[in-house]
Amino acid sequence: MHKIDLILLKYGEIALKGLNRPKFEQRLLGNISSALAPLGRFSIKKAQSTVYVKPLDEDADMNAVIKRLKKVFGIVNICPAAQCDKDMESIKDTAAACMAGLGGKTFKVETKREDKNFPLTSPQISREVGGHVLKTAGNLKVDVHDPDILLQVEIREEAYVYAEKFSGAGGMPSGSGGRAALLLSGGIDSPVAGWMVAKRGVTLDAVYFHSPPYTSERAKDKVIDLAKIVSEYSMGIRLYSVPFTDIQLSIIENCPKNYLTIIMRRIMMRIAEKIAVKNGDLALVTGESIGQVASQTLEALRCTDAAATLPVFRPCIGMDKEEIVTISKKIDAYETSIQPYEDCCTIFVPKHPKTRPHLDEVLEAEKALSDIERMIDEAVYGAEVYDIYGGSVTEISNRKEE
Ligand code: ATP
Ligand code: MG
Repeated sequence: MHKIDLILLKYGEIALKGLNRPKFEQRLLGNISSALAPLGRFSIKKAQSTVYVKPLDEDADMNAVIKRLKKVFGIVNICPAAQCDKDMESIKDTAAACMAGLGGKTFKVETKREDKNFPLTSPQISREVGGHVLKTAGNLKVDVHDPDILLQVEIREEAYVYAEKFSGAGGMPSGSGGRAALLLSGGIDSPVAGWMVAKRGVTLDAVYFHSPPYTSERAKDKVIDLAKIVSEYSMGIRLYSVPFTDIQLSIIENCPKNYLTIIMRRIMMRIAEKIAVKNGDLALVTGESIGQVASQTLEALRCTDAAATLPVFRPCIGMDKEEIVTISKKIDAYETSIQPYEDCCTIFVPKHPKTRPHLDEVLEAEKALSDIERMIDEAVYGAEVYDIYGGSVTEISNRKEE
């Protein structure tokens, strides 16, 4: 890669916002600043739908900066650029330097002239720069239709030149879309579901149900690891680790076997909703997908839904496992998700779960849990709570915010 003086960040959807646009832009700038804080000092400014990120330390690791920016929602393109004076000689020299060592056979120059006082037009600049590159860069050819390298020149406050750009994560800036509670298991689907909702700017709380000693500390650590991975994108996650053993044992003891799973899932929803309400969350999110397992038939989903009053979002609902896996790999969650630790959902699976449960029968079966309200409260307030961001996990008090 050529010398990088700064990074130009392009955003898409935010630029289409009307009167609210400054709010989204401010949020994006704040998120960029917080994401880069561990990597040094930076000047972060915005002008004409572009964010300028300039390192203030000599030894800034720009590859690490680019890697981090790829996880900031709201950014569409990441363009590491060289900066030069706004005169044609400097621009041409910088362009030639940017092309050195890039290895393509064909190129094209594109110019954006935001500063309309610059004496040459965009096509004139592109032509002159292209001619200079042809002269200086050995056997490169111009291909205006499908070039190997797109060399871009932007004339703004200064002149900027770049020959490489990376895709950003897209979406909306974290924190611009309200809050939701994600039911986070150690599997493949729920981290993906959380990522998808976070992509639309939603801040996440996560709720994990564990059943010691049937589920291990390692299983819980795995969920914390997954929360860390998603939190890089969502600018933090508050994770509730809810003790679920007593409730599961009580369901097993009191309810018909073929309804165990559906009743357990309904109680998960009720607990998640209480936690959601505590945090001002406006929706619940799960990793369910139609027909994946017995508890995800439409009939079962209908019964699960009926336990919650908040809307339940299931971003993976229409996706095949393979499609979910593709996203899981893309967001670097897959290797963690496939570690083989037990989940409370899988330890007490009945041999013949009802695949088409009727809500009235489920409600009837649930009546056997006479003490369930108290048990739900105990689970909510017995949860361990962690604030997770930037790789660090801080346990916080559960009762403080009441
Ligand atoms: P995942 O969906 O995360 O890959 P899975 O497919 O094994 O795991 P299921 O048992 O099918 O999960 O559960 C469906 C959804 O219920 C999960 O996507 C998740 O949102 C929620 N869920 C399941 N187990 C738990 C748990 N132990 N804690 C919190 N949420 C859970
Ligand atoms: Mg699943």
